Amino acid sequence: MKLLVANWKMNKSFNDGLRAIKSIKKKIKNDRKKKYIILPPLQSTLYIKKNLIKDDVIFGSQDCSQFKNGAYTGDISAEMIKKVGCKYTLIGHSERRIMYNENNKVLRNKIKRALEQKLKVIFCVGETLISYKQNKSSQFIIRQLINVFDKSDNFKNIILAYEPIWAIGTSVTPKMNEIDNIHHTIKKTMKKKFNILNIPVLYGGSVKPTNAAEIFSLKNVDGGLIGGASLIASEFCKIYDTL
Ligand code: PEP
Repeated sequence: MKLLVANWKMNKSFNDGLRAIKSIKKKIKNDRKKKYIILPPLQSTLYIKKNLIKDDVIFGSQDCSQFKNGAYTGDISAEMIKKVGCKYTLIGHSERRIMYNENNKVLRNKIKRALEQKLKVIFCVGETLISYKQNKSSQFIIRQLINVFDKSDNFKNIILAYEPIWAIGTSVTPKMNEIDNIHHTIKKTMKKKFNILNIPVLYGGSVKPTNAAEIFSLKNVDGGLIGGASLIASEFCKIYDTL
């Protein structure tokens, strides 16, 4: 199964989001071999779901609280995300790690909360430009994995996304063999440390209709996580067609 995930970030409010989904629904379909998942801002998800004639789109949230319900101003719990109708949640995106200081402990809690609610977790890893230049990408990513997961986790509900920080929103990507090698390292690490075979690993970072086919043809790439290009419905659909 191949997956294509649209991370809208803090873009597209109610009507913009609804228009985009209607246009996507006209052009592409989920089937047994591939699926698309949309991560709008959460309040738009609720609005979109209420205003679709046929609510057959798979939605996810872009974040999830590390806490259960309670006095946590501004936060949204995994239980609430589930009640909105989301099936997935994104955890560990580099924007949250960097701008909101989300460390391994926080990310571990978020994973736990999401799994308790039977949400599927899309967990992001990815190295800094400095680590990449020092040929230390693998070490950087292996640490990110072993510091947040636990053998007791339900890995059936975990999908990983490799997103080199320096490739996000920059129109630059690693070389094709570098992407495939890192995905292979991630799968190998999950097998060695947690005894999990062939965990899905998506690639994210400046995927466009022009480079998607080449990226998705790589042996160890199971789909994509798309930021900028997912904001234009036609671009997102073109990328989906290459999957
Ligand atoms: C992202 O932020 O997850 C991402 C992949 O962004 P972009 O596609 O714009 O590089």
